[in-house]
Amino acid sequence: MHNVIIIGSGCAGLTAAIYAARANLRPLVIDGYEPGGQLTLTTMVENYPGFPDGVLGPELIENMRKQAQKFGAEFKVGAVSDVDLGRRPFKITAGKETFEAKALIVAAGASARMIGLESERRLMGHGVSTCATCDGYFFRGKEIAVVGGGDSAMEEANFLTRYASKVHLVHRRNEFRASKIMLDRARANEKIQFVAPFVVEEIHSASKGAVEGVRLRNAKTGEAREIALEGVFVAIGHDPNTAIFRGKLEMDANGYLVTRNESKSSVPGVFVAGDVQDHRYRQAVTAAGSGCMAAMDAEKFLEEHKD
Ligand code: NAP
Repeated sequence: MHNVIIIGSGCAGLTAAIYAARANLRPLVIDGYEPGGQLTLTTMVENYPGFPDGVLGPELIENMRKQAQKFGAEFKVGAVSDVDLGRRPFKITAGKETFEAKALIVAAGASARMIGLESERRLMGHGVSTCATCDGYFFRGKEIAVVGGGDSAMEEANFLTRYASKVHLVHRRNEFRASKIMLDRARANEKIQFVAPFVVEEIHSASKGAVEGVRLRNAKTGEAREIALEGVFVAIGHDPNTAIFRGKLEMDANGYLVTRNESKSSVPGVFVAGDVQDHRYRQAVTAAGSGCMAAMDAEKFLEEHKD
C-alpha cells in the first residue's frame, strides 16, 4: 500500500514527487510512455527560472528525478494501463502489476501531435519544435515554417514574427479551423505567408543536423514545392494522455481533466497536475507549480483521512 502514487514523470510529476517525498510520503512514480515528458524532446530551456545560462531539457528533468530520489521517491518503469478509482485505496495497474494507493496524483501530461515524418522526429530540438514560446527566441532573423490551420498555428505564427524574418504558414486545406479573429490577424501580418493546401513531405537537414528546408506537396494538384528555411514549428494540436481515465474522472470536450479548488479532480483523493489539465500555459514552470500544489493537496488529504 502506497500513500501516494504519481502517474507521469515530467515536470509536474517530478515536482509532485519532490514535495511528496520531502513530506515523508514515500511516493511511487510510474514513469509513463514518455519518461521525463515533453522536456526530454527539447534542447535548451532558457525560461526556467534559476538558470541564467539556460539548461538542457533532459538535464533539467534528470536533476528533478535525482532530487525526488534523494528524498525517498521510488520510480517504476512502465505505463499505467488501468485505474480503479471506485473506492479507496485506488488500484493502479501497470503492466502485470497492480498497486494500491491512498491518494493519487495524475500528471500524465499531453503529447504534441506530430506530422509523422522520420525527419521530424530526428530533428526535434534541432530546428523542429512544438513550442513557440519555448524555442522562438532561437530563430531571430531566420525564415521558418509553422504547420497547422487551427488557433494554435495562428497564435504561434503571429508570436514567431517577433523573431523570424518570415513565417511560412503551411496548412493542408484551404479552409481553416482557426477562429476568424485569429486567422484575420495572421493574414494581416506582413511577415506571414500562407502556403495552402500543402502538406509537409520531408524536412531537410544539413550534415550537422540542423534544418535547412522543407519539401511540400500540394494536397490538390500534387505539385511539389521546396522552401529553404531554418525552423519548423509543428502546431497541429495536443492530445492529453487521459484515455484510461475516461468515465472515471471528469474531463472537458477535448479530453483534458477538469480540476476544481486548485488540484482536486472529480474523485476525492485524486489530484491532477501539469499539461493533463492545462491546454493554455503548457510551460515547464507552470507544470512544476501545479505539481507542487497537487502534492500539498494530497498531503493534506492524507492527513485528514488517516485510518
Ligand atoms: P485544432 O483546432 O485541433 O487544429 C489542429 C490543426 O492542425 C487543424 O488545422 C488540422 O487540420 C491540423 N492538423 C491536424 N493533424 C494534422 C496532420 N497530421 N498534418 C497536418 N495538419 C494537421 O488544434 P489547436 O489549434 O491546437 O487548438 C486546440 C483548441 O485550443 C481549439 O479549441 C482552439 O480554439 C484552442 N486554442 C485557442 C487559442 C486562443 O484563442 N488564443 C489558441 C490556441 C488554441 P484540419 O483542419 O485539416 O483538420
